Amino acid sequence: MSTKLIASLCPYCAVGCGLYLTVDKGKAIGIEYMTDHPASEGALCPKGNSLLEILDHEERLKYPMKKLGDGFVRITWDEALDLVAQGLSRNIRKHGPGSLGFLASSRCNNEENYLMQKMARLLGSPNVDNCARLCHSPTVVGLGAVLGTGAMTNNLLDLQNAKCIFAIGTNFTEAHPIVTRWAQKAKDNGAVIIVADPRITSTSWMADIHLRINPGSDIDLLRAMMKVIIDEGLADDDFIKSRTQGFEELRDSLRDFSLEEAAEKTGISTGDIIRAAKAYAISPASALLYSMGITQHVCGTDNVKSCATLALLCGHVGRPGAGVWPMRGQNNVQGNCDMGGMPEFYPGYKRSTDPQTIEFFKAGWNVSDLPLGPGLTSTEMTEAALEGRLKALYITGEDPIVCDANIKKTRKAFENLDFLVVQEIFMTPTARMADVVLPAAAWAEKDGSYTSMERRVQWIDKAVDAPGEAKDGMWIVCQIAKRLGLDFPYQNAAEVLSEINRLVPQYGGMTLERISKVGGLRWPCPDVQHPGTDILHAQRFSTPDGRARIATVKNRPPGEEISPEYPILLTTGRIVLHYNGGSMTMRSISLYERDPELYVEMNPADAARLNIAAGDLVVVTTRRGSAEARARLTEKVRPGVAFMPFHYHGTNIITSDALDPVAKIPEYKIAACRIEARA
Ligand code: SF4
Repeated sequence: MSTKLIASLCPYCAVGCGLYLTVDKGKAIGIEYMTDHPASEGALCPKGNSLLEILDHEERLKYPMKKLGDGFVRITWDEALDLVAQGLSRNIRKHGPGSLGFLASSRCNNEENYLMQKMARLLGSPNVDNCARLCHSPTVVGLGAVLGTGAMTNNLLDLQNAKCIFAIGTNFTEAHPIVTRWAQKAKDNGAVIIVADPRITSTSWMADIHLRINPGSDIDLLRAMMKVIIDEGLADDDFIKSRTQGFEELRDSLRDFSLEEAAEKTGISTGDIIRAAKAYAISPASALLYSMGITQHVCGTDNVKSCATLALLCGHVGRPGAGVWPMRGQNNVQGNCDMGGMPEFYPGYKRSTDPQTIEFFKAGWNVSDLPLGPGLTSTEMTEAALEGRLKALYITGEDPIVCDANIKKTRKAFENLDFLVVQEIFMTPTARMADVVLPAAAWAEKDGSYTSMERRVQWIDKAVDAPGEAKDGMWIVCQIAKRLGLDFPYQNAAEVLSEINRLVPQYGGMTLERISKVGGLRWPCPDVQHPGTDILHAQRFSTPDGRARIATVKNRPPGEEISPEYPILLTTGRIVLHYNGGSMTMRSISLYERDPELYVEMNPADAARLNIAAGDLVVVTTRRGSAEARARLTEKVRPGVAFMPFHYHGTNIITSDALDPVAKIPEYKIAACRIEARA
């Protein structure tokens, strides 16, 4: 019997569900459920259940290619690697290393991302980023500023211990479906569920209190809840005194803030604000969950700080069932950030602007020079390319031409580059713009570790061969690095992990043997005796003095507002059947068939006024352009608000690229639009 079961992970979202691949004669032929996996207990959502459909999909990239005229021609690996090395070194010579940009991939494993950022920095470029810029960069910087660590404080399973769950800006039942089982267990045990979301969603159906908040008014809601908690004497004074600083400034800033004003801005009655605040504060253990409804705003960082501050005010941090759960996006977005795939941080969140960081890595990597940060974020790279300051871009496993906000601008920026290389598993719209396309192995075709949203680091072994001549990403990076004169002697991912163990303190004890076991380990895990950490901040926060920083912030208006020309407020989000820019799920027939085309949810009252019927093709226009979509008429959105899923290629033609000034994330969640029946 040649059939083997090989432990693996779902390659989609950051829940990190475990599974077994059934492999026969070198081919993955089935999935077995991993019932002892600590985050998923054998469950998989529709995306996880369909993952085999993309592994040996006929459209997988199989050979290196270079651009010729309007098309591509197949080339050898030697030629492809030489072309990439030449394209990068040509621009270093002519314009300096700062003219290079690198996008590490949150779908790739830790070892690949570690090498990618290392190559960028050894070449002298501080410009390395990843798709966290577009989803949770405010978590990394905002939660980091308040709690000292920009990551989920507790584990997913621990959600069942919560006595109150406050989910704001997260439709987790669709975006992270397996989390629902832990939230439901909490509810079955009597937890109060509060959901703040402008839409009626499958998550809001779980709620005891649904706060139908006006988009862009999260800080007003959070500050109003804080005011109720302080005024009613529900704050945890002992916790505030012993473990935080900054409370007085917050309290003073709330003195003149009225609940009536908050009610007007948020669209939520004062009664509901008070009910929600009391339920959150008096519960013995409250969990605060948030996602991109919080982060994807011009005030995304302040939104995150406000969420963390609410938790601190009530002492709901550092205990079972009490903490802050940022619901991260891609399967390895946490790991990519941990590995330094961000311009603000070298590996292990060592600040790139700190000269001590540079000295640490100069010694660790045995080099004489490294660039001080911060480099350019991905959103700044786009601007720099438009202005001619960024000349070459190396993208792995990301699709900015679909996923960026205001993608017409990104397209123009990429057209302005001297050299674009894309390493991918499918021919994405971004890959179609590349000078060189490098075919990469998918997750089950290589060894390596992944870090889920709950800081769980899990190693998986290669289960099957990559198609055609597609190669493991770490092999590709090592070959390019060597051609550029760098010392990249790594033979396998285990050797890279050993270096990570040595240089990333949080991963110090995460040896291959330890993280190969089902469920792996959760960081911080500083040494090989350490059992890993389930709950952060139990005794002290990860700030220099161990105290959390209570944040005082005020709401800022969105990047754009409705007007007579653009009278409807458009917001965007995820749906259960698709993922990110759809490069995988749109090719997964069982998913695609069930939700094949872009749609816009609009309220029947708006539709009647605009003479639009259910199922009509409509044109949604913002200040950046137009997208065609199928009208879905529903009370899920209020009059004056519309919703579009962002997985389809049209949505980001019209989203807003107004940026949060700190995290540089675009405001995907708010755009003023008009909707018209298609002529
Ligand atoms: Fe995969 Fe996320 Fe679904 Fe789990 S919840 S099966 S990790 S997409």
